[in-house]
Amino acid sequence: IVMLQIENLEVEVENKKIINSLNLSVGGGEFHVIMGPNGSGKSTLALTLMGHPNYKITNGKIEFDGKVINDIPVDERARMGIFLTFQHPEDIDGVKIIDYLRLLLEKVKGIEPAKALQIIPKKAKEVWFSADMLSRYINVGFSGGERKRFEILQALLIKPKLLILDEPDSGVDIDSLSLISHKIRELYEQGTSILLITHYGRILEHIDPKIVRVHIMKDGHIVMSGKEELVEKIEKEGFKKVFEECGCNE
Ligand code: ADP
Ligand code: MG
Ligand code: MG
Repeated sequence: IVMLQIENLEVEVENKKIINSLNLSVGGGEFHVIMGPNGSGKSTLALTLMGHPNYKITNGKIEFDGKVINDIPVDERARMGIFLTFQHPEDIDGVKIIDYLRLLLEKVKGIEPAKALQIIPKKAKEVWFSADMLSRYINVGFSGGERKRFEILQALLIKPKLLILDEPDSGVDIDSLSLISHKIRELYEQGTSILLITHYGRILEHIDPKIVRVHIMKDGHIVMSGKEELVEKIEKEGFKKVFEECGCNE
C-alpha cells in the first residue's frame, strides 16, 4: 500500500519556482533513493515534505497515509510519522540536547519527561553520545560526524513511519558513516520507509537495502527512475553524460 503519494507537485521559495511537475510514490517499508546534481531541488523537496513554512506549495498535492498534508504544519506531520534529517543541521545556541530531545519525545510521541530521561541516554550511547555530550548546546562546535549522528539519534528516538534523510553521508568521517548506515538499516528493518538523498553509492553498500527505486532529479523534477544499477552508472559517468544519453536536457 502507498504511504507517500506526491502528485504534480510545484513548490516556490522566495517567489521562485524550484520544484515543478514532480510525481513520486513510496510504499510502506520501501527504500527509495534520490540523486541529482547540486541545485536540482533535492533539499527543497525534503523540506517541503516536512512542511517547512518557507516552501510554498503552489500546485499539486502530497498525500500521506491517505490524507492530503499540503497545509498541515510541521509538528502535526511529525506526529503523523514523518521525520527529516537535515543536510545542514543548524546550531541552536543555548538549547541543550537533552532538553530538546525530551521535548521532542513529549511532543511527537507523548512520552513523559521522566520516561524520556531513561530512554535518551541509552539511545545516545548507540550513536556515541556520552552524558557530557547531552548537556551541550545543539550542534554548537560539533564536528560533521557529530552533527549527522545527532540527526540519526532523533530518528532513532522517534522511529518514524517515513524517514527522509538528506545527505546523511556528507561531511562525515568513515566511522560515523558506517555507524549511521548501520542505524538506517536498523530503522529500515523495523519497517520504516526510507527516502534517502545521497551523492554516493558507498552508503548504499553499507546499508544494503532492497532498493525499490532510484530517482534522478534535475531542475526541480524527477527526470528518470531506475533500479540500483543507476547509482553505479551515475558514479561512473556523471550526471552530465547520463542526462545527454537520456535526452533529459531537452
Ligand atoms: P539540492 O539539495 O538538490 O542541492 P536545493 O533544494 O538546495 O538543491 O536548491 C534548489 C534550488 O533552489 C537552488 O537553485 C537554490 O539556490 C534554490 N533555493 C533553495 N532554497 C532557497 C531559499 N531559501 N531561497 C532562495 N533560493 C533557494
Ligand atoms: Mg546540494
Ligand atoms: Mg541539498
